[in-house]
Amino acid sequence: MKTIRVSIVTPDGPVFDSDVEMVSTKATSGDLGISPGHMPLVAPLEITSVRLKKDGKTEFIAVSGGILEVRPDQVTILAQSAETASEIDVERAIRAKERAEQRLKDHQVDHTDFRRAELALQRAINRLGVSERKI
Ligand code: ATP
Repeated sequence: MKTIRVSIVTPDGPVFDSDVEMVSTKATSGDLGISPGHMPLVAPLEITSVRLKKDGKTEFIAVSGGILEVRPDQVTILAQSAETASEIDVERAIRAKERAEQRLKDHQVDHTDFRRAELALQRAINRLGVSERKI
């Protein structure tokens, strides 16, 4: 089976670097499926999962948005944060989710803090979903 190199990089360093058969994720413009030979592309990502298929197995990685670049032999994702499913601290994500939900209920928060809480909630929900390998 043909493969394509995938690198997921954050400011803290590389999170994933391996050859896979297929990459699935969600750009702001919609779902993306990338297999070897995909046309070159640059796309901003949602707060979402990246699914990496190889030898009949799928690895899940949570990314907090970022930029995906497809070149003929390489997919690169630059993200502010990224965690493999096994790296995710579920208790921490639950606490982050509860904090964000509390913030969203607070009628005193200004627009910027409300938006920040919405994004924190999305990151927490995404991490929880990836930790259960559901999304
Ligand atoms: P928190 O409020 O728990 O810090 P956050 O969404 O604000 O959550 P980020 O700013 O996205 O956190 O990430 C900061 C760093 O912490 C990154 O390196 C990220 O990979 C890591 N991180 C955040 N939440 C978790 C988690 N639940 N499990 C493992 N690593 C996490």
